[in-house]
Amino acid sequence: GKTIGVLALQGGVSEHAETLRGLGAEVVLVKKAEQLQGLDALVLPGGESSTIDRLTRILGVRDALKSAISGGLPTLGTCAGLIMLAREIDDPAPGQQSLGVLDISVGRNAFGSQVDSAEALLEWRTPAGEVLPVKTAFIRAPRVSSVGEGVEVTARYHGEIVGVRQGNIIGISFHPELTGDTTVHEELLGLA
Ligand code: GLN
Repeated sequence: GKTIGVLALQGGVSEHAETLRGLGAEVVLVKKAEQLQGLDALVLPGGESSTIDRLTRILGVRDALKSAISGGLPTLGTCAGLIMLAREIDDPAPGQQSLGVLDISVGRNAFGSQVDSAEALLEWRTPAGEVLPVKTAFIRAPRVSSVGEGVEVTARYHGEIVGVRQGNIIGISFHPELTGDTTVHEELLGLA
């Protein structure tokens, strides 16, 4: 079986752990840099990106995270996790940093009140170019405001980019772990 880490400093950790266990993976709740060793893939969950950022620095996990992901560890970032991965945050909280491993810029809390929190059926573009339906939830979601050359757009919502893929990294601004849709997690396991 595969061993998948879920960064477990703050946010929606348990839903990802359950989803991954349901797909047959062994899950490590990552709170320390050493726990990044021996993983086949990693999930950065949703939550509050400025809090997760601060905790990664306080707990000394940030540099190890950054080098593991830029070294090729298959990684899925959801919502706050997507913000963590981004090269640039358009509207960071005071002092907020990101890992800068995914060549996109993101705007936080980008959808207006009518879609502030919503369920949606998206079209997800697989690496093979197939389009699969993904049932998901949005919760104060970011939007991807620009993408670099090597970045593929995998999903849109209300015209905005909400899913991307760059090499070993998948970033989504939504939460399939809350609806039980395993499409994106299965893609991550396929990279592992
Ligand atoms: N708005 C949050 C942030 O800026 C993200 C919300 C989420 O992860 N559900 O971190």
